[in-house]
Amino acid sequence: MRPVLCAILACSLVVFLSGCASSPYGVGRFGTVVVDAGHGGLDRGARGMDGRSVEKVYALDTAKRIERGLRARGYRVVMTRRRDYFVPLPSRVATSNRQRGAVFVSIHYNWTRNSAVSGTETFYYNSRSYPLAANIQREVDRVAPSPNRGVKRSRFHVLRNNARPAALVELGFMSNPRELRLIKSASYRQRLADAVVRGIVKSSR
Ligand SMILES: [Zn+2]
Repeated sequence: MRPVLCAILACSLVVFLSGCASSPYGVGRFGTVVVDAGHGGLDRGARGMDGRSVEKVYALDTAKRIERGLRARGYRVVMTRRRDYFVPLPSRVATSNRQRGAVFVSIHYNWTRNSAVSGTETFYYNSRSYPLAANIQREVDRVAPSPNRGVKRSRFHVLRNNARPAALVELGFMSNPRELRLIKSASYRQRLADAVVRGIVKSSR
């Protein structure tokens, strides 16, 4: 394709996906990220094939890695939980809705009865949240060796009731033995966290 035509098409695509508005915030189009570690306390979330690994632990660990990555790039980060305690879904949404110039990203690991199923997927509810979800899923898929299950619309409470652009990412299946081995590796979780950070940063430009 000729370079000029290619540039025009590429720019149109960027406009379509994320808009070209200049930013009213410190970093790109938003300066604050609400990072939501799924589950916590009595709500353990998914349990791994080994019977010991629980989603709430890996979700919090990954959320803290994302927090560090975003802070290093100049973003303000608000965590919905920093330790192992229960936070009701409406409280998570209220934390998000109090922030101005923010996006909300919820971190989860997945589970299903069929242990053969694996892969990553990212959910959104409204169209203004789609670019955030799509950017996160694209970056996560680059580092995850498992299948790309895509970007999907969902009525999850934390997405549907959120006044900010909001995405929920499922970073792999704890019910799949191969994927659980990866999830248990701190270096793999760091790669996932770095990918989520890249997706967020791309959405803010
Ligand atoms: Zn979960």
